[in-house]
Amino acid sequence: MAFGWIDEQADARRRAGLVRTLRPRPADSPLLDLASNDYLGLARHPEVTEGAAAAARTWGGGATGSRLVTGTTALHRELEEELARFCGFEAALVLSSGYAANLAAVTALAPHGSLLVSDAGNHASLIDGCRLARAATQVVAHADPDAVRKALGTHGGQAVLVSDTVFSVDGDAAPLARHAEVCREHGAGLVLDDAHGLGVLGDGGRGAPHAAGLAGADDVVVTVTLSKSLGSQGGAVLGPARVIDHLVNTARTFIFDTGLAPAAAGAALAALRLLRREPERAARARAVAAELHARLSGAGLRAVRPDAAVVSVCAPSPEQAVRWAADCRAAGLAVGCFRPPSVPDGISRLRLTARADLSGAQIERAVRVIGETRP
Ligand code: PMP
Repeated sequence: MAFGWIDEQADARRRAGLVRTLRPRPADSPLLDLASNDYLGLARHPEVTEGAAAAARTWGGGATGSRLVTGTTALHRELEEELARFCGFEAALVLSSGYAANLAAVTALAPHGSLLVSDAGNHASLIDGCRLARAATQVVAHADPDAVRKALGTHGGQAVLVSDTVFSVDGDAAPLARHAEVCREHGAGLVLDDAHGLGVLGDGGRGAPHAAGLAGADDVVVTVTLSKSLGSQGGAVLGPARVIDHLVNTARTFIFDTGLAPAAAGAALAALRLLRREPERAARARAVAAELHARLSGAGLRAVRPDAAVVSVCAPSPEQAVRWAADCRAAGLAVGCFRPPSVPDGISRLRLTARADLSGAQIERAVRVIGETRP
């Protein structure tokens, strides 16, 4: 039977307790949310939702076409200019998701014959970018500049290091300054995914590359998502103008994709302006992460020290991680749960979001629930 093998896989998933389901989120959920990526609490900010609504009224429900045909509005251009300026880069290009931005940057900057050096902890979208690129890929040990040096030393031609700035599972940061040093020794470029850094790290949330002194460098290209700190949807690539022009002309996920919906561009632009006006939101997200980590550790839980707004709590097994997250939910707390196949065997986690708008009482309650439900 066609697709018969799907049922065997589904059975295996059921036996392993790893079935994924889609649960609609009520608009007015009573759960305390430590699961979303709304790091700055901006997704429902009235200025952000009005930014979306006004953009839809002016420009319509969709972009109506590819960015190169009818899909570019004045809003897209404003967003690109303001994002580039905020993060310290010459130019930016907005795409319909962070995933598409990563595919665009990696594939367009790694031609046939070049080498992609990819951190073993990278996000799936960077991994897929490497798979789609015509370059060879070498996966190197996580956050290890010496491993990068070794990989670059084996290759004479063009090379690019591809890395998350903040890793989405453990919330740890990449050693960006040392990575850049190694890349420069070898004339290699850097593509950095700052999905979890924008809005949280760097001066006023300008991101991890800005904090590491890499913003605006001619050998550094950064991707971001508009769907986490900026509370909207979409992605962008930031870098030198000549790189952005190259993407406009060659990146398939830019050229052959419908432009970002105007409402998403309007929401992201409103959120970016809010962040510029209220830079303390970034520091508050970091402070909440530090407090969550300290309280969890104090309660005897094994939490990874956070470098940004992701706080990861180790679970003994995938099954226990799933049950733990379900027990938290039953007690009124929404947490993320990472387990295979999203992460390698042996590193199942609860994943908590240190939202800037969490109160002290909410942090206390979250830690109490996680402690009381521990396996
Ligand atoms: N990179 C990282 C590190 C991410 O965590 C995510 C989102 N899960 C993405 C890229 C993809 O971004 P988007 O959701 O905007 O497609």
